[in-house]
Amino acid sequence: MKSSSRAFSANAEKAMLDTQLQRALNKAGSGFIDKRRAALDALPEFEALRDTAKAIKEHTLSHLDEYLVHFEQQVMANGGQVHWARTPAEAANLVVELCRAVGAQHVTKGKTMVGEEIGVNEALQQAGMTPIETDLGEYIIQLADEPPSHIIAPAIHKTREQITALFKQHHERYGLTKPLETIPEIVNEARQVLRQEFLQADVGITGANLLIAETGSTVLVTNEGNGDLTASLPRVHIVIASIEKVVPTLEDATVILRLLARSATGQEITSYTSFFSGPKRDTDLDGPEAFHVVLVDNGRTEMLGNDYHPMLRCIHCGACLNHCPVYSAIGGHAYGWVYPGPMGSVLTPLMIGLQQAPDLPQASSLCGRCAEVCPMSIPLPDLLRQHRFRLHAQHSGSLLTRLTLGAWAWLARRPAIYHWTMNTISGVLHRLSRKRGRLHRLPFASPWTRSRDFPAPQGETFMSAWAKKSRQQGGDK
Ligand code: SF4
Repeated sequence: MKSSSRAFSANAEKAMLDTQLQRALNKAGSGFIDKRRAALDALPEFEALRDTAKAIKEHTLSHLDEYLVHFEQQVMANGGQVHWARTPAEAANLVVELCRAVGAQHVTKGKTMVGEEIGVNEALQQAGMTPIETDLGEYIIQLADEPPSHIIAPAIHKTREQITALFKQHHERYGLTKPLETIPEIVNEARQVLRQEFLQADVGITGANLLIAETGSTVLVTNEGNGDLTASLPRVHIVIASIEKVVPTLEDATVILRLLARSATGQEITSYTSFFSGPKRDTDLDGPEAFHVVLVDNGRTEMLGNDYHPMLRCIHCGACLNHCPVYSAIGGHAYGWVYPGPMGSVLTPLMIGLQQAPDLPQASSLCGRCAEVCPMSIPLPDLLRQHRFRLHAQHSGSLLTRLTLGAWAWLARRPAIYHWTMNTISGVLHRLSRKRGRLHRLPFASPWTRSRDFPAPQGETFMSAWAKKSRQQGGDK
């Protein structure tokens, strides 16, 4: 299933009516939220860590060129190679060429959202290679031919019944026909299939949560250990990472790691936090013979220093998705591109163009929960508002929306007329509701009233009620 960011409204409506999706989303529900809360309650220094992490990232971003070059030098000193890609196509070509150079047929992959961004699976398949996802969630959606619906839980939208049906359909060819019922059974069967893939892989591709300039290491956090098998068993290990992932030192990395796992899954630390620092050395028992890092820009250098600069601090923890009322109602596919939720609504228009994703900046109630929980203090609602300003400046959106906003802006600058108008509208809506307190149909607000009632105003605005009360109190004295 592929969707498009341009079709967000239609995608969202479809998602709301998808009973299987709603069941899966309800089940996932508050799990991440409760675990994060408990983890933070046990970490009194969270706010201090958040400030330190923000300062580390801001310092790094203001010297990004130096730290990236230092990282490259260290990778080379360790025996690896760094490759630079300005666009997704360049990055995908680089990966394909690296795989071709060693005659690769089978390629195992750990979870990499930047890999999704550059379409690496499609590029490998077009070149005649078989990429196999080894993260369980990614493996499930690869079987379903779907993109991830969450940046840390790619198959969160699937019910257990859907997963067992997928396994039945795809695993029969391995002679695995036993009906699966429990999660351990599902995990064991995936393990059996993937073990063979790990053993026959020529190249392993992983992402990176962090790059450390001081040591030339790439850091990967997983809970399944698949990242380590992907990195160590094949002859070649390729890391795909975006350029803003670099931090200066190991110590800086540990600050961010302490925030990452807690914000993402509520764990103190993920089950596997692996540091890869080059190919196998003579004294190592195992490891890849070659180590490559493909550094992807894809518009990030343009974000440096502009209005969207804070977004480069993102560590892809997913907390903003988990706490977003919009994401919780529609899941990730409705957003139509790699990154969903509030962080996706900021990033996607920057990466594929605002005109390709004009609805995403509106996919938020601006309630502010995302900014509140973001471990990197990214002001997501402000960034979404920036997109809205740009859209308005580009005369995007319907004529009705622009006229309504224009009228509202005119009114808001004239307080006396504004209060009179609001009071009048309030009174009219109150009368229209016939004192039921709710309105079933409202012209100009049909997308809202089509599926829910509109709460009717009390009959006068707060300001007018306040003024009336003050007058009465003045008269009583
Ligand atoms: S924007 Fe913040 S909360 Fe959202 S994924 Fe990035 S770091 Fe996490």
